[in-house]
Order: sequence, then C-alpha cells, then structure tokens
Amino acid sequence: MTDQPTIEPETRLYWDAAHEGRLLLARCGACSAVHHYPRPFCPSCWSENVAPFEASGRGIVHTFSTVHVNDLPPFDERLPYVAALVELAEGPRLMTNVEGCAPEEVTIGMPVRAHFREIAPGTEATVFRPVGR
Ligand SMILES: [Zn+2]
Repeated sequence: MTDQPTIEPETRLYWDAAHEGRLLLARCGACSAVHHYPRPFCPSCWSENVAPFEASGRGIVHTFSTVHVNDLPPFDERLPYVAALVELAEGPRLMTNVEGCAPEEVTIGMPVRAHFREIAPGTEATVFRPVGR
C-alpha cells in the first residue's frame, strides 16, 4: 500500500496514541510553542525540552480542496475526497482528510473533530469529521 506510513522511533508515540483514539501534540517547555507531530525538539526554538500532551481533538477547516482525480491506490477507491488543512484548537495545523459528510458540505471555518480511521492493521490515520457527525 502506498499510503502506509513509515513509523520512525520519534513518531511511535504518536501512532500508538492514534491507535488508542488520542491525538498527541507536543509543547515546548522553553518557549511554550505547540507543535505537531511530536518531535524530539521544538521547531520554534530548537529546545529539546518538549513533552507530548493529548489534544482536544477540536479544530476548524482552515482550507481544503476536493480531490476528484487520483489514480494511485487506495485513493482511487475513495474519490472524491476532501484534502484539508485543519487548524487545531491548540494552534498547529495538519494536513488531513475531512470525512463523514459530502465534499460539497465542507466549508472553510467549519468545526471538525478528530476521528481515527484504520489504514493498516493496528495503524490509524487521523482524519476529521464535522462536529456532531
Ligand atoms: Zn520552543
């Protein structure tokens, strides 16, 4: 499968949390910046004083596009799908998919909530659904 993620030691914690239905972010103990995905250093100030914490899972659609053409499996079976940049309540933005509604229902600023979809045995991708779905 082409969308199977390579799990590096630094991101293991993140994938394990997703498997348990939790979205992890990391906060810097030096400058308080929040980043995603968790890395062993702060991308703002390079401090290694970072610690993961559980996100609320709430966010809004910052921007999105509906993908109608993608020949690569497994995406070809999911068309059309919504590729979105979701801004989390905690600040970081992540590239993800919005699911659980028709692509034409997705709007910028729409409140969404994290949801975990299995993409391989024991491995879940973080996707978002409209709040209340
Ligand atoms: Zn920092």
